[in-house]
Amino acid sequence: MSDAIETYKVMGEHRKALRAKYGVPCPRCATARPKAHPSILMPQQRCRVDGYVDPRPELTDEQWSQA
Ligand SMILES: [Zn+2]
Repeated sequence: MSDAIETYKVMGEHRKALRAKYGVPCPRCATARPKAHPSILMPQQRCRVDGYVDPRPELTDEQWSQA
């Protein structure tokens, strides 16, 4: 049971690291609403606010595991 929780935590930490390393602020948010916090987009992610899709290719397994 505690192993599952541990795994869940580690995955959460990794997601945070991925966002810190590969996440970029949505450029459309930045121009449309400069005072609001822009959405942070991962490669190929769509901004929920304005529908902008990050054009970068999806992370490779190598990039993913290096975060
Ligand atoms: Zn946006």
